[in-house]
Amino acid sequence: MQQDLYAVYGGSGCGRGVMPLARQQLAQAGVSPERLVFVDDAPGPEKVNGQRLLTYAQFLAEPAAKRYAVLAIANSVVREKLAQRCEQDGVRSWTVAAVNVVRMDEVSLGEGSILSPFVTLTSNIRIGRHFHANLYSYVEHDCVIGDFVTFAPGVHCNGNIVIEDHAYIGAGAVIKQGQPGKPLIIGRGAVVGMGAVVTKSVPAGVTVVGNPARVMG
Ligand code: UDP
Repeated sequence: MQQDLYAVYGGSGCGRGVMPLARQQLAQAGVSPERLVFVDDAPGPEKVNGQRLLTYAQFLAEPAAKRYAVLAIANSVVREKLAQRCEQDGVRSWTVAAVNVVRMDEVSLGEGSILSPFVTLTSNIRIGRHFHANLYSYVEHDCVIGDFVTFAPGVHCNGNIVIEDHAYIGAGAVIKQGQPGKPLIIGRGAVVGMGAVVTKSVPAGVTVVGNPARVMG
């Protein structure tokens, strides 16, 4: 009988950070590390950090019962493009989470997420597809996070915040909590610079930096 095949799609910085988590997750499920590969569209070495590197075409050609991929690429627009490609080809979305992630009550997490070590998701949170929560980030109570949202390491997302699709939150940014029924909103595709202290809602598509965070330019 053919076995399933698992991919970390993206063999660069993000992917190399996700691979050990994926390996550990599969080991706990009793899956051999040989069934885990990197996939990347750019040519590269035969192996990266001990794991085979395949092109997407090779990944599809490899015998497998079912194929899974986690999209380990920080650029959310690329993630969305690859998510569509994978869906068309019957490659299933795969969520990878570090063993020490803390998830409290009533957390709904969309498919294909990456939760890095020391991430905490507290209670009553809704998160969309292909979310990246990098090292030491947290999401506090009553937040709603859209699809293809990216947190760099150390993001402090406090309670009652809405983050729309494709927003990018830089390393160490702090977002002030909203109020019940009146959330602080980070608009679609907005970028919050590293270390920013966000005290009010951010419109879609803009970049904010500084303390208090202001629109750049
Ligand atoms: N990549 C890919 N397909 C795409 C776009 C990017 O396989 O359509 C790969 C690219 O070749 C590179 C990785 O994704 O290896 C992105 O790496 P980068 O260092 O730019 O960013 P990060 O690893 O931080 O996401």
